[in-house]
Amino acid sequence: MDNRRRVPRTDAVLADPRLAEAILRLGRGIVKSAVEVAQERARCGEIVADDVADVAVGSLPAHATTLRPVINATGVLLHTNLGRAPLSEAAREAVLAAAGCTDVEYDLATGHRTRRGAGALAALVEACPAAEAAHVVNNNAAALVLAATAIAHDREIIISRGEMVEIGDGFRLPDLLVSTGARLREVGTTNRTIAADYEAALGPDTGFVLKIHPSNFRIEGFTAQSSVRELARLGVPVVVDIGSGLLAAEPTLPEEPDAASVLRDGADLVTASGDKLLGGPQAGLLLGRADLVERLRRHPLARALRVDKLTLAALEATVRGPRTPTTHALHADARALRHRAVQLAKRLTEHDASAVESVARVGGGGAPGVELPSAAVSLPASYVDPLRRAGIVGRLESGRLLLDLRTVPAELDDADLIGRIERAVAAGEGRRCM
Ligand SMILES: *Cc1c(COP(=O)(O)O)cnc(C)c1O
Repeated sequence: MDNRRRVPRTDAVLADPRLAEAILRLGRGIVKSAVEVAQERARCGEIVADDVADVAVGSLPAHATTLRPVINATGVLLHTNLGRAPLSEAAREAVLAAAGCTDVEYDLATGHRTRRGAGALAALVEACPAAEAAHVVNNNAAALVLAATAIAHDREIIISRGEMVEIGDGFRLPDLLVSTGARLREVGTTNRTIAADYEAALGPDTGFVLKIHPSNFRIEGFTAQSSVRELARLGVPVVVDIGSGLLAAEPTLPEEPDAASVLRDGADLVTASGDKLLGGPQAGLLLGRADLVERLRRHPLARALRVDKLTLAALEATVRGPRTPTTHALHADARALRHRAVQLAKRLTEHDASAVESVARVGGGGAPGVELPSAAVSLPASYVDPLRRAGIVGRLESGRLLLDLRTVPAELDDADLIGRIERAVAAGEGRRCM
């Protein structure tokens, strides 16, 4: 049989009312490519020609973006490849509310222009009263660039040799700082830097002292580092990059610095990410002395690093709103996770599933070395590919696929999850010619 000749033509398929409606919702390009994929499957005999329209309809994406929602079952709370912090429901709704025209720099009461994102900035200062003022940029790297450019251009940034951090994907903070025109004045050694080392480097060219939290590695053994309190006595501005964005101390992560404590200890400026432990959108937070924040805000570069209304909306809702998914994951009760794993495994016995203990981690976002007791559903390693294609990303460990439940939202219905797993496996078995 010649499949090629029987495959319906593209315009004939696109005339199907369901696909015509989809064009209005998703745009012609997306619908057309779904049709082309279905036609190709018919040509190689995987489906029958009469089913092309049905298959195309069934394969349409839910949204007009190639970004797909993913279930993070890796056990890594802040997974860089999966978009770091998942937004809270409150933040998602705020993003939707701000998506159209919105009063991001306009006072509806007076009709006057206002400070952009005033609500988000006020929320940050209210949540962290140790900060006199706040400013928000694109990410923490941008926050450091702005601070270095505005305060230390053509001057020196004094930094410990133990804090010359590569943040990932080949990006190194020292290179980033030097790219602004500031000069680095390295002090101390990899394992030990004391206050006297900083003091000896002070001079007329000093822009500021920078302390960077080693958020993705640990140095153990014969070590010393000076505290923010000691650095605050040096008489020059002290900027502290805390990394993860905790505004207040988090008891479960005693080693993670938080903005309030660091500012109370005398830091002049704190920089942090919005999408790590704060649990919000990608953003760079700058918190601290009002005069310094104002200087950053007025610098020409600030305009190039400014965030959009969606970020401001999500950030404000994250700070003002209920506990974030990241905080929930951090605090999830290990026994409840175990119970859930047992229940899920029971319903997946045909898939050789079992409930196992697991160790979850905060991830590149902070708290290196911290182990969070967790539980996982263990499945055959052959499930890795089909589940990943269906947007369920687990972790391969000792020849098994583990779905770690600490990072799977508690609100996600288990029956739903099981349905998705079963459909993914069935679809995996049906894949032949593509
Ligand atoms: C993650 C991190 C950064 C980079 O933050 P982005 O928001 O990804 O730009 C910088 N410094 C520290 C200490 C970090 O942990």
